[in-house]
Amino acid sequence: MLADPSMPEPARRWRERDLAVLWHPCTQMREHPDTLPLVPVERGEGAWLVGYDGRRYLDGVSSWWTNLHGHAEPRIAEAIARQARTLEQVILAGFSHAPAVELAERLLAIAPRQAGRAPLAKVFYADNGSAGVEVALKMAFHWFRNRGEERRTKFVALENGYHGETLGALAVGDIPLYRRIYAPLLAQALFAPSPDAYLAVPGESEEQCALRAADALADLFDRHPGEICALILEPRLQCAGGMRMHHPAYLRRARELCDANGVFLVADEIATGFGRTGTMFACEQAGVAPDLLCLSKGLTGGFLPLAAVLATQVLYDGFLDDSRERAFLHSHSYTGNPLACAAALASLDIFASDGVLERNRATAAAMARRAAALARQRHVADVRQAGMVVAFELCRDGDRGRPFDPALRIGLRAYRAALDRGVLLRPLGDVLYWMPPYCVDAAQLDLLAEATAEAIAEATACA
Ligand SMILES: *Cc1c(COP(=O)(O)O)cnc(C)c1O
Repeated sequence: MLADPSMPEPARRWRERDLAVLWHPCTQMREHPDTLPLVPVERGEGAWLVGYDGRRYLDGVSSWWTNLHGHAEPRIAEAIARQARTLEQVILAGFSHAPAVELAERLLAIAPRQAGRAPLAKVFYADNGSAGVEVALKMAFHWFRNRGEERRTKFVALENGYHGETLGALAVGDIPLYRRIYAPLLAQALFAPSPDAYLAVPGESEEQCALRAADALADLFDRHPGEICALILEPRLQCAGGMRMHHPAYLRRARELCDANGVFLVADEIATGFGRTGTMFACEQAGVAPDLLCLSKGLTGGFLPLAAVLATQVLYDGFLDDSRERAFLHSHSYTGNPLACAAALASLDIFASDGVLERNRATAAAMARRAAALARQRHVADVRQAGMVVAFELCRDGDRGRPFDPALRIGLRAYRAALDRGVLLRPLGDVLYWMPPYCVDAAQLDLLAEATAEAIAEATACA
């Protein structure tokens, strides 16, 4: 099974050792390595991953949307090394450390703001995105308990949304592939229609589509008075749901509806945060501030796992009491790990010193030019962009009403075809997307576009 004479020796050896002991995430292991290649990576360098096979792969998905400034970025690497020689880890209950404090200060300073609304005021750390989502959900629920509002037990989430894979996070997710099998274990959430602009009916603008979804949200709130504690959503961009984008008008209306119904708004910016959609946070595009903001993925520049949940003073104050049970006792061993906080601080420094958001505007425009050429390809039904994310929806003859038969596995074919051309794309179903590290340059974008065009052609040749 592992015979692959074309693969150089060190790569083949690492692959064999891997498959003998590792169980990979998000993978039907049976497909390795014949249907699904397994690429052992030796090192990273900017937007490149360098394999043990001696080949370079352009990281078109920022290593699962985590990397911001490039792989092995020396300034972040150095900050981690310095911190490791000083203090690698300390319990965050009863003890404190400088990187955790400084990072909290800086996150609160850049968090989305809204006129007339009290700003986000406190930071709670966790160690991955799903855990951050659970923290936010538990906080919202617990806050109402502490007030004696015991009927407020429900969460509202959006159709096609994604918030992670632990049982709590999965309960508010709506991607059948991840959710369906575990449904019997999950807390019951209420799902509101997605504002996804791809679902606009003929003649409807993206804004009208978003407002139609907001009307449905209003109805849902009306049907459950006093029962809902929070609405959780991915502002602007539903990532795992196929890089589906929506008009910011939705978020504005959702904010108003939450306020009118006494419901907390949880913005999951785990994937959209830190400049990915063109602004530091996607909420800014709607001029809206949430009650709880979940951050992870790019928080450390893609170096170390860390999550931060930012909360308002009102939320925080709801836990101050003489009783321990009214406190938020949630804890993870590595809460606020100093190495991860140091990496995050170094990443924020790079935003300032390198003018990252401004440079991204030029890079996003360059991506748009290359994407426009691909839009003319026969099977491309939609091309959409939010800042540093461009997505291509593939359908039969470019007709939205006619998706490919999933059994054809167009996405997987495109994945392999791109890999053959030295580009890591990781389609979501039949949606191909570009989400490169921010340091991607013009020549790399050319390669990305060329490989994508060829991958689309090769993958759809079977259809
Ligand atoms: C990735 C992601 C999560 C989960 O984060 P993990 O660190 O993978 O647990 C939650 N929400 C959104 C929007 C994400 O993209």
